[in-house]
Amino acid sequence: MNEFPEPHKPGIVIFDMDYTVWPYWADCHLDPPFSSSNGVVKDSRNHQVKIYPDILKILNFCRDHDIPTAVASKSPETSMYKELMKLLDIHKYFVQFEIYCRSKDNHMRAINKGQKVEFNDMIFFDDEYGNIETTKRLGVTAIHCPHRNGVSWKLFLEALKKHSEKHKSKQRTLK
Ligand SMILES: [Mg+2]
Repeated sequence: MNEFPEPHKPGIVIFDMDYTVWPYWADCHLDPPFSSSNGVVKDSRNHQVKIYPDILKILNFCRDHDIPTAVASKSPETSMYKELMKLLDIHKYFVQFEIYCRSKDNHMRAINKGQKVEFNDMIFFDDEYGNIETTKRLGVTAIHCPHRNGVSWKLFLEALKKHSEKHKSKQRTLK
């Protein structure tokens, strides 16, 4: 395993799904039932379902460095989203799934409770500024990802750095 690139490791990394992990509003743009054959997942209209190109690398990196990952989505289609994650073989990476239509501070509170990780030790990726603002208020390191690319490897490394620096300056104030 490569060494962790920053002095501080986050307690958890949380992902929105739509336009953060996959390039859709999955509950609007995709049509169940889904099928999977030889690793290719398709919806009922024969549209191939994909995730953004760097997501697997990021999830594997977190797993290899013992950083838990969780899902925080506002979609009301909880079971459809979980099924899609299973078919795409990414479900196994996440320790907690918060998928329901409420303000995202609720998702963060549930993960705080479930995983016993402080808000200020969470990194959260989302493509919607509103969700960034809501979760930042709790102390979460909330990172906006552009609609087009979702979470890229570059953005992920920048987030690790930003989070680590936040902890460094906090420690300095405590001294
Ligand atoms: Mg989204």
